[in-house]
Amino acid sequence: MSDLPISAEVVVIGGGVMGTSTAFHLAEAGVDVLLLERGSLGQGSTCRAAGGVRANFSDPLNIALGARSLECFGAFPQRPGQEIDLHRSGYLFVLTAPDQVQDFEQAVELQQSMGLRSEVIDVDRALELSPYLNPDGVLAAAWSPDDGHCSPESVVLGYATGARRHGASVRTGIEVTGIDLRGSEITAVRTEAGDVRTSVVINCAGVWSPQVAAMIGVELPVQPLRRQLVVTEPIPDARATAFTIDYGSTFYWHREGPGMLMGFSDQSVEPGFDLTADPEFTMKLAELAVLRAPALMEVGVQTGWTGLYEVTPDHNALLGESRAVSRLLYATGFSGHGFLQGPAVGEILRDLVLDREPFVDVSALSVDRFQRGELRPERNIV
Ligand SMILES: Cc1cc2nc3c(=O)[nH]c(=O)nc-3n(C[C@H](O)[C@H](O)[C@H](O)COP(=O)(O)OP(=O)(O)OC[C@H]3O[C@@H](n4cnc5c(N)ncnc54)[C@H](O)[C@@H]3O)c2cc1C
Repeated sequence: MSDLPISAEVVVIGGGVMGTSTAFHLAEAGVDVLLLERGSLGQGSTCRAAGGVRANFSDPLNIALGARSLECFGAFPQRPGQEIDLHRSGYLFVLTAPDQVQDFEQAVELQQSMGLRSEVIDVDRALELSPYLNPDGVLAAAWSPDDGHCSPESVVLGYATGARRHGASVRTGIEVTGIDLRGSEITAVRTEAGDVRTSVVINCAGVWSPQVAAMIGVELPVQPLRRQLVVTEPIPDARATAFTIDYGSTFYWHREGPGMLMGFSDQSVEPGFDLTADPEFTMKLAELAVLRAPALMEVGVQTGWTGLYEVTPDHNALLGESRAVSRLLYATGFSGHGFLQGPAVGEILRDLVLDREPFVDVSALSVDRFQRGELRPERNIV
């Protein structure tokens, strides 16, 4: 016999950063919300993220979402009330081609016009901020000091606990298997543990969101792409470093406890759900490290993991409300930068549910943009 509630004003599908943030924001606003996660909280992409949080983007919407989320990460110990190991190490995009410098100069100008502290800096300054960086071939770097990294597990825990504290029902080990409609209106969500009556569903199922949408004939263009990273053994006398990204190769590193977290986006990976680690990954990573941060080669790998990016054709999020099905909302396709947008997206979904004006107009992120041929490419991605 299931003890699932028989009804909920809103059902959120997925217990990653998006689902838990949304449940928190809705519950805090007094909405009767049920979150359903088929496994454990954060087990999808969220707890496999590198934890990077930033507003250093080229698209003004991503800058706004990143900046709002940074404010929320900064205040996380007070609201929802959880330590998240936030390190404001700053982000440093290392630029090795003139067109990269030009693009980042434009992005920095835009970020500054939106009130952010970011700048394009010279190589000497970049070396001060990122002491493991090999400056050979580096022309400049884009520096955003208020960015950094924090713990995805803690963020999920904080939002889930906060949501429960405000009365939300957060249920794990429950898979949504169907969504019932009457005409274009949602009437219930089906699960293996029974049905739940509802009229509002929010699809936060990450890389699996297309399958959830397909339950009611809605298409979401999201593809899974395997990404891999490693964490090194403790580095003796480790020095402070910015979260550094060699933009041309995507090789990145940041401090992770006493060691260093390192990864890159292997462009040869084909879309798919396979999470098997590439046995060649460490070797490929070493080839990039030897060029850009050779000192990091002197330390062994302690652990590593794979995860899935949920990628859209223009590497930008899908966020909005379906036009075909009434009160079906979606937040997915974050293409490698979803963790850092979780707080802002949860707030926006709350406002869309409650018919309030969100702090920023996200209509350009609607999935309809692909039918309209209005792609919205984001350049500052890894
Ligand atoms: C290696 C790696 C590094 C990354 N680094 C960063 C980074 O530094 N910064 C950053 O911002 N982003 C990063 N990302 C991207 C980030 O992890 C994702 O964009 C983000 O976590 C997506 O969150 P989500 O809540 O949408 O999805 P998920 O965390 O995947 O959550 C979706 C959940 O839905 C559940 N679910 C699916 N179907 C159902 C169903 N039918 N019923 C019930 N539950 C269901 C799943 O079990 C899953 O837990 C990284 C990703 C990877 C793989």
